[in-house]
Amino acid sequence: MKFKTLSVHAGQQVDPQTGALTTPVYQSSTFSYFTAEEGKARFGGQNPGFIYSRFGNPTTAELEQKLAALEGAEEALVVASGMAAVSAIMYALADSGDEVAFVDPLYGGTDAFLKQTLVRAGITVTRYGSDQELLDNISANTKVILFETVTNPNLKVIDPRKVVAAANKVGAISVCDNTFLTPYLMQPLQLGVDLVMHSGTKYLGGHGDIIAGVVAGRTELMAKVRTVALKHIGSPIGPQEAYLLQRGVKTLPLRMDAHLHNAQQLAQFLQSHPGVKKVVYPGLASHPGHEVLKDVSRGFGGMISIELDGGFGACARFLDKLELFTQAVSLGDLESLACHPASTTHAAMSAEARAAAGVNDDLVRLSIGVEDADDLIADIRQALA
Ligand SMILES: *Cc1c(COP(=O)(O)O)cnc(C)c1O
Repeated sequence: MKFKTLSVHAGQQVDPQTGALTTPVYQSSTFSYFTAEEGKARFGGQNPGFIYSRFGNPTTAELEQKLAALEGAEEALVVASGMAAVSAIMYALADSGDEVAFVDPLYGGTDAFLKQTLVRAGITVTRYGSDQELLDNISANTKVILFETVTNPNLKVIDPRKVVAAANKVGAISVCDNTFLTPYLMQPLQLGVDLVMHSGTKYLGGHGDIIAGVVAGRTELMAKVRTVALKHIGSPIGPQEAYLLQRGVKTLPLRMDAHLHNAQQLAQFLQSHPGVKKVVYPGLASHPGHEVLKDVSRGFGGMISIELDGGFGACARFLDKLELFTQAVSLGDLESLACHPASTTHAAMSAEARAAAGVNDDLVRLSIGVEDADDLIADIRQALA
């Protein structure tokens, strides 16, 4: 079945007991196994069945089946946040003495986790400036490679095929953070990537009301990640959040089509506006990653970055005049959002690291929502004026 059908139906069955159409919220921390013999079999792994909601919960389990179908994965795991997903992947797959490679830039929280916390486990973290640099120079000691296909907030495009080639050279595990594109636009596993992860907080949830994380891949790797994420680190998602994430995912294709449509309209408007110094959107033919993304993705995403002359002062005047766009971090919500990364999401970075990540004082990041494009354009036009 096709993606839109799977997003509605996969992993979901009418509740055999009550006939409930949508997955019930199983708000229970523990589950009886009824007999001592059955308890022994469940703990021993001979029998399936739920035990304790840190290990698994029926609401979450149906969501995981849906997400596995959407990613074309053998198995998916849903956890408490995108950061819980990243940390579980790294602790599950890298040992002390191993090297973890990443293609710069990464999401700020991921960057900080690798450099400040993961290194304390005796794991070396190595930065590569581009997909080509990784492919040319990857070290034989590399165990895991982490990258984002469309980076934040400078919207650089990293070619997953080059990362897969680099991983194959040294037998490393490739991991794609696919938060910005979602499986509707790109399925990294079909391109040969070993694991895909998401901040479910963003487009998958889509409504700005939950924090969630997703990992998907083949069972052999997922078994390790699941154990570390749930049993050891202890970061399950709650059943209420799992329910909301499942509801969000059902409309993912409809929302993404609206995000894509609006982003393309806005990018074209911004490009023609004399008050905007630079427009960065992979959907513009002028973007250096346009052709690569066209090859691997069904669309260019809903994020646009612009540069205005005049640093923080000019950006602040623009942001404070916006009426429809809300000033907030996060992205992928129904609502359009705007932020000034240098003074907010990237303020804790050194000036050099900010420059390397392409974050300067003139940069404003826009998460384009699903409102009417004409209204969004009108809001930007008046704020620029
Ligand atoms: C937000 C985000 C994360 C972190 O996810 P949380 O759900 O906030 O923990 C990781 N990667 C990317 C690309 C993100 O945008």
